[in-house]
Amino acid sequence: TSFGYKQVREEEKSKLVGNVFSSVASSYDLMNDFMSVGLHRLWKDRLVSKLNPFPGMKHLDVAGGTGDVAFRVLERIKSVGHRAMQGTLTENEEDTHIYVCDINPNMLNVGKKRAAERGYSEEHCLSWIQGDAEALSFEDGSMDGYTIAFGIRNVTHIEKALSEAYRVLKRGGRFLCLELSHVDVPVFKEIYDVYSFSVIPTIGELVAGDRQSYQYLVESIRRFPNQEKFAQMIQEAGFQRVEYENLVGGVVAIHSGLKL
Ligand code: SAM
Repeated sequence: TSFGYKQVREEEKSKLVGNVFSSVASSYDLMNDFMSVGLHRLWKDRLVSKLNPFPGMKHLDVAGGTGDVAFRVLERIKSVGHRAMQGTLTENEEDTHIYVCDINPNMLNVGKKRAAERGYSEEHCLSWIQGDAEALSFEDGSMDGYTIAFGIRNVTHIEKALSEAYRVLKRGGRFLCLELSHVDVPVFKEIYDVYSFSVIPTIGELVAGDRQSYQYLVESIRRFPNQEKFAQMIQEAGFQRVEYENLVGGVVAIHSGLKL
């Protein structure tokens, strides 16, 4: 198509996660805003500012069906590119390529639709690829950056996704993960527990007409390893200079690592 959509063979996928996001896809944006009171936008901004995108970069956003992260990366590169044009830098904006990979075609369709609405339909630097984080279809050492926002929690084998991230990155490439994490602040933790166990499934029922899917989301947050444990897993995948930043007391965390 006009904006470079590539069809890649369908990967093996977890049926449960697939079903959850198929039924959630259409009300996805609305629910994100409701559940996070709009904060997910700031969290994604923070993620992309840590990535430090540059013109000409090859970037992979995994579990990025809605394009939220990819659009931010692209916008940032454009603003850097324009600054460079005024100066003497010669980076070639046209070499920039952002790959959005998601296991679920419905989520990719939401992203593609939004790309068209934002006037990105003529962009050749965006590709929408159906694929599994655990078995990426990209070459070894082909990416400058890898992001995954609110995605790794849904992956069946986190270790496999991390080692795939490591494999596809170039030396010097950056791994960044934004994920709902564990709150460890007294009182706030209790309030957050009530919010997530009672309020989120209720909002899910009222707004998206789907209590069960949102109950699943809350349970998956509980099961996800805490900040320290996840940092250790990233290190075990081979990454160096692994660190994390808690946002809103650990409601979300951004983990990062470098492939050196
Ligand atoms: N990154 C987007 C954002 O922050 O708005 C979407 C996050 S959404 C909560 C989680 C996404 O992960 C869904 O689009 C889902 O289809 C995708 N997903 C789940 N398991 C996956 C896997 N194994 N490989 C790739 N994507 C996966």
